[in-house]
Amino acid sequence: MIGAGLAGLSSGVALAEAGFRVKLLEQRPFLGGRASSYSLPDGEEIDNCQHVTLGCCTNLDDFYQRVGALGKIARYRRLIFIDSRGHRAVVDASPLPAPFHLAPSLAFYPSLSWPERRRIGEAMLSIARRGGRNNDGDAVGCSMLDWLRTHRQSEEAISRFWSTVLVSALNEELVRMEARYGLDVFWKAFLSARSGYIVGIPRVPLGELYEGCRAAIEQRDGEVICRAAVRGLNEEDCRISGVAMDGGRQYSADFYLLAVPHEAALKLLPERIVASEPQFRQIRNLQVSPITSVHFWFDRDVMAEPFVTVLDRTTQWIFNKSRLSEGRGEGRYLQSVISASYGLMQRSRQEIINLCLGELQQVLPETRKARLVKATVVKETAATFSPQPGSDRWRPSQRTPLPNLFLAGDWTATGWPATMEGAVRSGYLAAEAILSACGEPKCLLKPELPAEGLALYWVRNKRPDPSN
Ligand SMILES: Cc1cc2nc3c(=O)[nH]c(=O)nc-3n(C[C@H](O)[C@H](O)[C@H](O)COP(=O)(O)OP(=O)(O)OC[C@H]3O[C@@H](n4cnc5c(N)ncnc54)[C@H](O)[C@@H]3O)c2cc1C
Repeated sequence: MIGAGLAGLSSGVALAEAGFRVKLLEQRPFLGGRASSYSLPDGEEIDNCQHVTLGCCTNLDDFYQRVGALGKIARYRRLIFIDSRGHRAVVDASPLPAPFHLAPSLAFYPSLSWPERRRIGEAMLSIARRGGRNNDGDAVGCSMLDWLRTHRQSEEAISRFWSTVLVSALNEELVRMEARYGLDVFWKAFLSARSGYIVGIPRVPLGELYEGCRAAIEQRDGEVICRAAVRGLNEEDCRISGVAMDGGRQYSADFYLLAVPHEAALKLLPERIVASEPQFRQIRNLQVSPITSVHFWFDRDVMAEPFVTVLDRTTQWIFNKSRLSEGRGEGRYLQSVISASYGLMQRSRQEIINLCLGELQQVLPETRKARLVKATVVKETAATFSPQPGSDRWRPSQRTPLPNLFLAGDWTATGWPATMEGAVRSGYLAAEAILSACGEPKCLLKPELPAEGLALYWVRNKRPDPSN
């Protein structure tokens, strides 16, 4: 098994629990891949970026449960949006049943006019009426921006509501985002069930969430080997015969699971196979999009809220890392996050710090009085694959034309965007495929949150809505 990100870890743990002897090879010194933490030269441990989960991420919760990490995730049901005029919107579930539980918060969303709020309500209703059937019709092959314009959303509503939610959820700009993905976010997180939108944030550095993974694999005679970079997969008679390591070493196994990012997978797969199998060749068409995070340490407490969502600025979220993490004080360490941060890629780290610090000072007045002790920028240029219109057809299945080779990773065909939930889904699907190949089929994938209230009626009612 190659790659100890969430895809490789979830698959490895599930297969170990099913009785397999797993050997997990990871090139880095730590587990968790893109969702991990590491130490700065001064010893400060930081996440490579704040990672957020939602109530609708049922497989990620299942994985955290298996490895004893579920209790390390704090849940927040109150979301605060702050715009450039200083308006604060609080989004919280009312006692109304789904899909109307968030409607009162939306009705009082102060950053938009009444007609704009009404039109957002109409578009949300039209999403709810689809009952989650977003894989057909006008949602496929069309951009989210076009879909919103067709559904009479104003430019203000698009930038101050839709874009605020979707750019960070899907790490892409609306013009490059397939509408199907955008509609899925609203259906799964905001409409189908009351708990879908509840934000989960780790109380510990991301790396600590994976402590139970090594034990789960090693207790069953498996191995987790870090600093073990795989250099290629060897092929014989249309099967994988081994993985090539440094120094001419080779490991062989009954089954091989490649759980690395898609660009790395293309480098490891034998060239002949990539050239001859469309499933592998097409992976090249997947594009990537960047995320930038800026970490600030102040000399005093500067923020009371655990996190806020920011409108009208480059910064999209501000996380109060001190308050979110155990044992880090009240509000001195903050992290600003910018998804789809194409505009920052060419800018220097100091320019990015200056830009985001200026925005912090506008949003959080306490930061104006405080002294900035240190700051650092993490640019992830290939943070996730880009959910562009049509991108689903380039995402390969976890099964491959080679009978003993399987794929996992947030970029494989899961139906979900590039998220921790998507990575765990891919890991479980790959493990299911391996179990089936051994004649021991087992269902590992957890179902999505069941639809509730009127949302359930629309799931059961198959009639297409004429307004969609
Ligand atoms: C900055 C940032 C912010 C994000 N925020 C969120 C968020 O808030 N919520 C959310 O749900 N998702 C978020 N994501 C997405 C999430 O992190 C990923 O979708 C998920 O972690 C992907 O897991 P994976 O196992 O598919 O891939 P990876 O985590 O990339 O794991 C692949 C592993 O393979 C290893 N590897 C690669 N090549 C080799 C080799 N040759 N030999 C051995 N090992 C190798 C890598 O070192 C890595 O550990 C974010 C991602 C980034 C980058």
